[in-house]
Order: sequence, then C-alpha cells, then structure tokens
Amino acid sequence: MTNLARRLLVSALSASLAATAFAAPAWAQDTAQAHAPSRDVAAPGRAKNVILFLADAAGVSSLNAASLVAHGEPMKLHIQQWPHLGLSETSPVDQFVSDSANGMSSIMTGVKTRNGVISQTADAVRGRQDGASAKTLLEYAEERGLRTGVISSQSIADATPAATYAHSNDRGKWGEIFPQAFSPRFGDGVDVLFGAGRQKIGEQLAARGTSFDALSQAHERPIYARLDEAPASNARPVVVADRMDVRAATLRALDLLQAAPEGYLLVVEWDAHTDDVRKGLQNIADFDRLIAEVEGRVDLDDTLLLFTADHSFGLQVDGGRRGEPVLEGYEAWKAAGGDDDVVRLKNVLVNRTHTAEEVPALAIGAGADGVRGYFPNTRLFQVMMEAWGWSAAAAD
Ligand SMILES: [Zn+2]
Repeated sequence: MTNLARRLLVSALSASLAATAFAAPAWAQDTAQAHAPSRDVAAPGRAKNVILFLADAAGVSSLNAASLVAHGEPMKLHIQQWPHLGLSETSPVDQFVSDSANGMSSIMTGVKTRNGVISQTADAVRGRQDGASAKTLLEYAEERGLRTGVISSQSIADATPAATYAHSNDRGKWGEIFPQAFSPRFGDGVDVLFGAGRQKIGEQLAARGTSFDALSQAHERPIYARLDEAPASNARPVVVADRMDVRAATLRALDLLQAAPEGYLLVVEWDAHTDDVRKGLQNIADFDRLIAEVEGRVDLDDTLLLFTADHSFGLQVDGGRRGEPVLEGYEAWKAAGGDDDVVRLKNVLVNRTHTAEEVPALAIGAGADGVRGYFPNTRLFQVMMEAWGWSAAAAD
C-alpha cells in the first residue's frame, strides 16, 4: 500500500486521527495489513460492474453493535475499512421514517416516494392508485444489455428485492409483484433471481389464478424451490425457496454474472432488523464476511461495491466493558418470550421500530468516490449510474 493510500485509509477511518496519520495506531496498521498491497482504494475509472449490498435496517449504531458483538471491538467489520463513507437520508416524501419500500425504491430509481410503494412516483396512493413507474437501476442495466441478479434472505417479492424489478402501489401485492420478474419492461429481465418466501408467494399467485408452474410454462423458465435444484447449465436461474442461503446464492450468482463480458448489476439484500438483537447483529457480521469474500473475487478497477441500508433501526449500545459480553441478558429476555416493544438489556437498548436518522453508505472500487457527505438516498442511484458513465433519461 502506498503512503497516499494509507493516508486516505486512515483519514477515512478517523478524521480526528488523520493529523497523526504518519504514526498510525495499532488498529489502523492491522487494517492496512488485512488489505492486499495492490488494492487501489480510490479507483478513478469507470465501473463495468456494480454490486449493491443492502443490509435491511442496518444503521450506524447497528454496525457499531455488530462489530462489538462479533469482534469484541468497534470498527472491526470489513466494510468499516472501506475508504468512502457517506450518510444517506432515507425519508419518504410525506413522513420522516421510511419503510423498506420507499427506502429501496429511492435507491433504485433516484425518486423518493411514499412508504409501501414499490418503484412508483410519489403520486401513488398505497393500495389504491398507481403513480408512474419509476425506471429502476436494474431496468437501466437490462436496457443496456448488462446481466442482472437479485438475491434476498427474505421473500423475493418483499419490498426490498421487489423495488429492483417491479412497480406496484402496494408492497403487499406479492401476487402482482413477483410475475413482473418474468414480464420485464427492458431487456430480458432479471437474469439471476434467488430468494425466499415460496409459500406466501405461492398463495398470493393462487389467489390471482396463477402459480409457479403456470409462470414457468408461460415464460419457459423453471422456478426452482431450492438452490441446489437449479442445474449448472441454467445461466438464468430463478429459485424461490422457503429459506435462502445468502452466501451460497451470492457466490453462485457471481460465478454466473462474471461470465458476462458486458458487465453486471448484482443486488444482495440481507435482513438486519434487530427485533431479535442477536440474530440481527449476527446477520450483519455474516453479511460483512460475505462482502469481504466477494471483494476478493472482483477487480476493484472495474467494479463498484456499495453497502447501505434502506432505513435505520432503534438500537443503541449504551453500556458495556471490553472483555465482557455485550448482549448480557439476551438469553433471559428470549426465554421470557421476547415480545416487548422496547427491549432493555444491560448494555443495549432496542426500540423495535424503524428510525429516521441517516444510514451509512460505504463504497470501494470504481466510482466509489461519489459517496461522501450527507445526501438524500436518491443520490446513491446517481452514484451507481455515474459509475457506469450513464445518465438517467429525462422521462420514462
Ligand atoms: Zn427495510
């Protein structure tokens, strides 16, 4: 790593320590060693590929807590070593607190909307009236002949993945949302689609007089129930399972997408709600390890890696000591039923609801330097478009 790169890294990690960058503290040296010496932390070139990692509900304080719980120290997540950081503002047009539908729609379309609405403009009335379809980043990528993939730990028709490939005035209309993956407005639609929610999507398809089988036959595209059922020969696999192994799904998708000379967009969602604080923080730590693994498989000179959240969540670490368990009291809370609205553990307070404050946006690779300062989450759409060197159509 060059001196310049080390200075950039240290200043990104801690502005207060930047002035003493020449005598980097021990933890910063660990960080430098963890990175390959040839990595370019400020790759200025254009991206061929973009990977968006969306940790659903992972605010700044959740990342802090995940590092404390998983590594015993702050700032030990891999993504916390990335050189480019911004704070992304998530509100819908009419309120302060966002849900996943508005949050992800804003990131994917560059247009803020209303809670509950999937990639439609803000004149939509949830459940009652459509707004205009707001063209998604995935649709731009499809239009330009790139390969695309969407992966979720949750239902593949739930708000976050839906906002990549569908348009609806209500996030609850899974029977209307899921089939849109097979009737794309641009290109040939999502190439690799791996997610959960099989039972409930199946029920909602049945309520609309269709089914996984009917969709498969109509579009000559099998919809597998398990990741390992999809044959290696299928270059555009769709898997809707009961549960999705996000790591296996992501590595498989990467293998398929990286074979495309045109480049690709891959969106990976992993739930990070901390209603169950241990589970949510473990998800963040696992996602972070997966991101490090993915980073090792891409060329940062032509690939943008972006991590963010669709909205924040009411979790705070407000106590604790080094060497002692952060989640002391969790087991007792869980054993007692664990259904309180506000969870008071010894060192952690969880107000189990979405919250309004800005969420982290972290980036590395081609085009990553567009991520800086405070900005509305719609800016992330621009960052990804600009990484490819694209501009949005005036109206679509
Ligand atoms: Zn969400």
